[in-house]
Amino acid sequence: MADRIVAAVRMKRKVLEGVDQQSDIIDILDNFVRKTIFREPDRETRKLKRELVALMRKKYLPRADESGRRSAVPILDRIGGDAAVAKGARLSGRPLRYLSGFRQANIKWFAQEVETSTVAISSELKAQLAKASRDSIARADMISDVIDSYKAELKQTRKARRVLEQANKALANAEATGDLKAIKAARKARSKAKSAAHNVKTAMGRMETRVQGAARDAVRRETQRAQLATYRQAGYTVYTWVAVNGAAACDSCTALHGTTRSLKEWQGNQPGDGHTYCGGSCMCELVPQEFTKDNESIKEPVNPYLFDALEK
Ligand SMILES: [Zn+2]
Ligand SMILES: [Zn+2]
Repeated sequence: MADRIVAAVRMKRKVLEGVDQQSDIIDILDNFVRKTIFREPDRETRKLKRELVALMRKKYLPRADESGRRSAVPILDRIGGDAAVAKGARLSGRPLRYLSGFRQANIKWFAQEVETSTVAISSELKAQLAKASRDSIARADMISDVIDSYKAELKQTRKARRVLEQANKALANAEATGDLKAIKAARKARSKAKSAAHNVKTAMGRMETRVQGAARDAVRRETQRAQLATYRQAGYTVYTWVAVNGAAACDSCTALHGTTRSLKEWQGNQPGDGHTYCGGSCMCELVPQEFTKDNESIKEPVNPYLFDALEK
């Protein structure tokens, strides 16, 4: 495996997992649970929505841009040397316009996801309030019960995600050994961890899961576009599709892995454009052909978890 691709993919995975991204969103939700729940569901949920969208606009997407450009550097350095790196380092002109237009779309998609979730949470809260008054339950008791259940679920979600992350690494390790029995067991453990991470009961839990997912997808798409804009600016026009989630890559991404086309031909069919089974959650990358053509070792989709597993 080419070490530059490994370096780029590893850096990308950091962004994709967005550890601090996740805690930011959980913190806002946690704060919402503690301070504002029930006071005025609509007003408070609107405030929640604004905060989440602002977080996306001001923090995650600019960070994704930066990371996308940085992950392009090792590849530019390998194929074009210092000149290509310098050319791709500062985005200007068309690549920059292409990127900011895409950012507007990402914010819009994210805002829609948050909108749906806040509406759901608002109606759940109102229903609980109505139930309390119908059943003559003290409002304060109802509030503290709901707060407890929301907080417990947020905590559980966070824990389930850590377990899933470990399971991903364990599967990569098993795949590296080629031991079929171990692979089977690791797959089973991963699928169990995955359903635990998605098993939520309250509107708050659903919001957490959906908003985190939408945030990750938006950041991932933005990283991919910034990376591609950097290659474009450095002058590369022909690109090869590289699937970077190993055995977890969907069938359409696995089939596309290694396909080479001009940027014009990729237009509208880039990773995350929605034409693959994985849709907006696609993790793949378009890499300048000059880099991948001599690289026989990139025959199979790349597993980003494997790199960490091998490192230790
Ligand atoms: Zn896919
Ligand atoms: Zn893909």
